[in-house]
Amino acid sequence: MSYKKPDNKDLEAMIGIVGKNYATANDAICASYLSKSVMGLESQIPDIVIRPKYPEEIRKILVYCSQEKIPVSPISGGLSGGFACPLIRPGGVVLDLSRMDRIIEIDTENRIAIIEPGVTLGQLWAYMHKHTPEYCPPIPDGAPPSSTVMGDAIDRGFSLVTSSMGPQGDIFMAAEVVIPRGDILYTGSWALPTAKPFYKYGIGPDLWSTLMGSQGTMGVITKVAIKIFPHPEHKTVVVWGMSNPQDMQNLTWQIGNQEFGIAHHCVMVQGGNYPLVMTRWPKEKVPHDYEFYKEIGFSRWWMNFEVWAQTQEELEYTEKRIDEFAKKFMESKECKDPKAIIKQELHPKQIASRLKKPNKIAIPYGYWEAGFLFITWYTPWKDCAEFAEMYNKVLEDHGIAPVMWIASIERCRQAICMPIICFDSTKQEDFEKVQEINRITTEYSIKRGWLNYRPDPYIHAPMMYSQAGTYLKYLREVKKMFDPNFIMHPGRLMLP
Ligand SMILES: Cc1cc2nc3c(=O)[nH]c(=O)nc-3n(C[C@H](O)[C@H](O)[C@H](O)COP(=O)(O)OP(=O)(O)OC[C@H]3O[C@@H](n4cnc5c(N)ncnc54)[C@H](O)[C@@H]3O)c2cc1C
Repeated sequence: MSYKKPDNKDLEAMIGIVGKNYATANDAICASYLSKSVMGLESQIPDIVIRPKYPEEIRKILVYCSQEKIPVSPISGGLSGGFACPLIRPGGVVLDLSRMDRIIEIDTENRIAIIEPGVTLGQLWAYMHKHTPEYCPPIPDGAPPSSTVMGDAIDRGFSLVTSSMGPQGDIFMAAEVVIPRGDILYTGSWALPTAKPFYKYGIGPDLWSTLMGSQGTMGVITKVAIKIFPHPEHKTVVVWGMSNPQDMQNLTWQIGNQEFGIAHHCVMVQGGNYPLVMTRWPKEKVPHDYEFYKEIGFSRWWMNFEVWAQTQEELEYTEKRIDEFAKKFMESKECKDPKAIIKQELHPKQIASRLKKPNKIAIPYGYWEAGFLFITWYTPWKDCAEFAEMYNKVLEDHGIAPVMWIASIERCRQAICMPIICFDSTKQEDFEKVQEINRITTEYSIKRGWLNYRPDPYIHAPMMYSQAGTYLKYLREVKKMFDPNFIMHPGRLMLP
């Protein structure tokens, strides 16, 4: 596939659409978009940055770029952790949607918010906290407040209620999408102009799902209706520690597998191992000996159950039941190390800090060694311990700290497993090491039938699609239908 590098004439055409303040080929501005792509090992500086405000401007931009065969990559916040965001060759136009930041409606009766793609986590959280405090938006728990709700949902991330309410992709109800062939498409019940966005599967076969996880390769979403949730006052965090990932997996499954009742009260169920703690400190301050963590009360592995309830009674009952499950598990044959199953009593200040949203906990990861990467995988819940052991071993074999974070999706139906790879981004050999780790673990994971969250175009996508040829064939047909000249975010997902 060959593309045109945009020139001055193209820049003039873009200025004609959005105005001179909102389209530029200025070197410094274009280069600043590279530093946003903190999570990509390979990335490319865009040739032009355009900051549209209205769907009609985007429609004109896409029609023009499609005719000229100029690549276009949309970003909302540009902060997706993983490999989804950075531009790769051939660069082209970055469509920065941060000016489209209107919160159009908060409809508490139908539990829906209608927002534009540039609405950030911090913005929506603060707005609802002020105007509708009895409801909350489904923001991703640890993501930077300047990333967007839309960017997270289209990437199918995880939010503060994911263990109870399902994957973040499930929060979408309807969307307005600008298609490169020049149309504006409405999905879900919005396809019918008179309908509210109350039903996501639309008016017949569902087109929306083909846009989910598309990493900007199909079209540009300009408005979405997302679910919002009641925000009860009664909350706590219950933590159980253990010595190994199997006990973490199996105890947590006992609770998630209840499906009804207390499993629904556990809105965010996430855990990991003790090296997670040190990734938030500068490297020179990191104690390497486990004894240090033991003394300050960290088990080698642990699981946090964040509980939300409508009454204090419900809250206390849920905590009591979690504790009962842990005690019963300790006595069962399934438990590998009963002595290490310990309840971690949190100080009220620790509970308050974990309940604070957006919690910003992930922001300082870069302290450790300047480079960090989330390479996230989905596994069936009962495979997450095997994933953690396999990945941690490969990390340690390569001299990288075995940092593992695992969370439950939909009451332990799936696990989202996220090794946090901290490396020295000033060293070329560290980049090579990370690629090697990624290749080895991807080979293992694909054989085990696990799925990558945001497949990168060099390792995950080729290995994954080599096992799913018919799927890729139809995906390319869908892409052709929306984007006949293949201008959208080229290289992503091998499309093309
Ligand atoms: C430190 C850190 C912590 C994080 N913690 C979490 C977490 O706890 N939970 C979680 O789920 N995620 C987390 N993330 C990932 C990320 O921040 C979220 O997924 C985030 O909300 C992505 O939003 P964004 O606006 O930055 O997306 P972007 O990076 O702008 O976009 C994501 C993808 O969608 C495409 N895209 C963007 N906008 C559009 C559009 N309007 N139309 C079509 N395609 C589009 C882009 O091309 C890209 O491929 C974290 C990231 C970081 C850096």
